[in-house]
Formats: sequence, structure tokens, C-alpha cells
Amino acid sequence: MPTLFGRKEKAEEADKAVPLGDDQKEELEEDVSLLQKEDKASVRKVISEVKETIKEATRASLRDVKLLEEGRCPNCGRKTRQFLFTTVCEYCGWSSFITPKRGHVTIHLRNGGTIESHTVFRTIQGDVLGITDDVVRVRVPQDNIGYIEYIWTDDEIAERREQLRRERLVVCDWCGREVQWDEYVAVTYVAFGKEQQKFVFCSERCKQAFQKQYPTRIHRNCYERPCEGCDECIKRYPDEETWEKLEEKPARPEDKK
Ligand SMILES: [Zn+2]
Ligand SMILES: [Zn+2]
Ligand SMILES: [Zn+2]
Repeated sequence: MPTLFGRKEKAEEADKAVPLGDDQKEELEEDVSLLQKEDKASVRKVISEVKETIKEATRASLRDVKLLEEGRCPNCGRKTRQFLFTTVCEYCGWSSFITPKRGHVTIHLRNGGTIESHTVFRTIQGDVLGITDDVVRVRVPQDNIGYIEYIWTDDEIAERREQLRRERLVVCDWCGREVQWDEYVAVTYVAFGKEQQKFVFCSERCKQAFQKQYPTRIHRNCYERPCEGCDECIKRYPDEETWEKLEEKPARPEDKK
């Protein structure tokens, strides 16, 4: 199964707590101790709200990662297109991209000037932060930006090409042969235990050999009936019908930013 670049970073990000400044910390401690004297229940409530928010966010990013792994847009669920460092959804305009690790970024200003930066980040307001060595060095207002140029090193491009090639390889669950993701790959969903599982094969022949070797329990009958009608296992993959419905929608929404 192809995993998306950046998946690890995402997981790491989630674990990183943002430290408060000393002033903020003092203020917070005062507030909390005041509140604790007066109203213990509301402190508990705030703490459980925070926990709930984190849980929600984790669920949302897990969903995004799952969709991306299946080559789907986390915004609208349609198939994405993957370029070397960029994944885009042609339908809704969603995109994600990686900035150079070894190269750098040049911000070309409207007035003709340029600013070099190791990496950039666009804020919700549209301003661009230039970040070098983990430090924000500049904040450029949106109105002042002509365009942003990404400067890659040749070996970074070559490495990425090779990485993507490897990620797009699928190992057949029957014969172990490696095939490219876009070559014909047969898939079967089956629940031997409690959960739905997915197996991929290099050919229809391997799929059939697998199914013969590993029969399903009679009442489940996973090979014969489609997953969407089954409520005898825990589903881990969206059903094909949902995907098809998403893809059918002909109209394109207004371009989202
Ligand atoms: Zn989309
Ligand atoms: Zn095979
Ligand atoms: Zn099932």
C-alpha cells in the first residue's frame, strides 16, 4: 500500500506541545487557582473539553491520513493527482505540498525585491512567514507578494522520484511479486476475525488462489457479497459505493481557497 510522504511528520506534530510564554503561564496559573477555589466543577469541565477537542482533532487527522493513503482528497473524497512534491485534487482545488529540505525558497515581492528563506508558511490571513532554522525571520503581507519560487537541489528531486517509485509498488499478498500501483491490481476485502481486512494481488489468478486457500466463514461469505451489505464485521475501509457516488458528481464547486 502506498503511504504518503509527510505522514510521519504529521504524527510527530500532533505530539508536540506548544510551550506558553512565562507571562502567559503566570496569568493562567492565577486564573486556574482562582477558579479552583470558587468552582472546582468548571475546572474539570474545561479539562474534559480540552480532552474532547484533542480527540476530535485526532479523529479528523486519522481520517485525512486514511483518505490520502487511498489516494483520495481529504476535503471531498475524490481521487487526487500526485506529483513529485505535490498532491492536488482537480475537483475541489485542495492541495498539499512539501517545500525543499535542502534547497530554499525565494519570495519575489511586488516591488521587484526578493527574500530568501529556508521554508515558508502561509497564514490563514494569507501573509507568508519566512522561516529559517525554525525561526520566523519575516512576515510578508499578502499584498506584497508577487510569487514564490521553490529552489530544489537535483539530488533531492532524484531521491524523491525513487521514494515515490518505491511507495507506488504493491506487494502481492499471494505470490509476493512487486507491481506498480497503476498496473492491474486485484483487491479483496475479507474479515477472518472481527475486522475487515484488505488484500491486494498482482493478478486475478493470485486473488483466486488466495481465496481458495483461505475460505471465509460460511455465514460471512465475504468473497461473494459486497461489503456495504454486511454488518458482521468492523469496517476499516469506505465501501466502493461511497467512492463511486463521490466520483459521479459532475458539477465542480466554486473554487475554494
Ligand atoms: Zn477534493
Ligand atoms: Zn501475485
Ligand atoms: Zn463483512
